[in-house]
Amino acid sequence: MKVCILGNGLISLTLAKTLVNQGIYVDILSSKNNFKYKKNQTLGISKSNVDFFNKNIINIKNLLWDINKIEIYSENLNNEKILDFKNYNEKLFSIIKNHELYDLLSLSLKKNRKCNFKKILNSKNLLRRDYKLIINTDLFSPLTKKFFHRRIKKNYKSSAYTSIIRHKKLENNIASQIFTATGPLAFLPISNTETSIVYSYNGRDEFNFKKIVNRFNKSYEILSYKKVSSFELQLVNLRSYHYKNILAFGDLLHKIHPLAGQGFNMSLRDINEILRIINLKKKNGLDLDSSIFKEFEDRMKHKNFIFSNCVDFIYEYFNFENNIKNNILSKAVKYLGKNYTINKYFTKIADSGLII
Ligand SMILES: Cc1cc2nc3c(=O)[nH]c(=O)nc-3n(C[C@H](O)[C@H](O)[C@H](O)COP(=O)(O)OP(=O)(O)OC[C@H]3O[C@@H](n4cnc5c(N)ncnc54)[C@H](O)[C@@H]3O)c2cc1C
Repeated sequence: MKVCILGNGLISLTLAKTLVNQGIYVDILSSKNNFKYKKNQTLGISKSNVDFFNKNIINIKNLLWDINKIEIYSENLNNEKILDFKNYNEKLFSIIKNHELYDLLSLSLKKNRKCNFKKILNSKNLLRRDYKLIINTDLFSPLTKKFFHRRIKKNYKSSAYTSIIRHKKLENNIASQIFTATGPLAFLPISNTETSIVYSYNGRDEFNFKKIVNRFNKSYEILSYKKVSSFELQLVNLRSYHYKNILAFGDLLHKIHPLAGQGFNMSLRDINEILRIINLKKKNGLDLDSSIFKEFEDRMKHKNFIFSNCVDFIYEYFNFENNIKNNILSKAVKYLGKNYTINKYFTKIADSGLII
């Protein structure tokens, strides 16, 4: 059994490693061999997804920085804290550097004889009959244009700006996010001396990244900044997850605003579901064919759609409050967040996704 994965980003490699661990042969086809993540990109991975990663994919314990509390602030409410989430005696989630995770997966797959990296100049030449199953994570592949162009899309007309600050040493296990008048600004610790910053700016005027960070930074004595990178922001949900024996996957399937740090987490839950279906088929002695893709779409499409729209709702909620120049919505969040059950429910959704 051989599966073809198109694209060589993080999700492609994470999925490939999951499949080779199951004894499935994988060809990773990409047009660019030397794809690299920028050194200032980080990911927050939820606790249950970290456990899933360590158990079913590869041990990433050494690459993680644990976060045990998240604090949310609102500029509209005089920068007051409106919410916090904590998991007593346990981590809530962990931060990892994209390039370190990528290198670990890449090295492990290159050593695995079940996995082959192949360069293709044009996947137009790739025929559906060349492989029994094709999983497409490549946004720019001709197959994407041909079979996966029908999507529900929203352009945020804004970008996320990311950097890493180096600062004086401190105990650094609390992540914070401030809903500023011009977009959410997150401080995500990655060591006792480094913190990743993600600022999703929805203003129109030019802005100075360092000035914004300095204005809202309460915890760090900053020594230096790494280069600032920017990413355009969109909400995308594909209308069809698969076409015959080709499945779309990763950010090609669903792309969300990074304010909740959930894009990669959603795809990990997708991988978990694929794994569950494969194991069930194997257990029942059934063929691993394209019915896996149909079952996957039936189980995950509605969940992913609702989840990505919940993230969008949070974005629009604070955006609306800024537009009406009132702080009633931040006050409402502060009030609701004090309720133990509601707080616990939100923590559970952020960790494991929608349970429906
Ligand atoms: C600012 C920001 C912060 C985020 N924070 C989090 C977080 O904390 N937690 C979380 O769960 N998710 C987060 N995400 C989302 C997460 O980064 C994506 O969901 C994840 O990287 C998608 O992986 P992918 O392999 O599908 O896509 P990509 O990594 O975009 O790759 C897709 C495909 O496109 C090709 N490709 C992409 N870029 C290039 C390039 N430059 N050159 C050549 N080929 C290229 C590759 O072949 C690849 O297969 C964040 C996203 C952003 C923008």
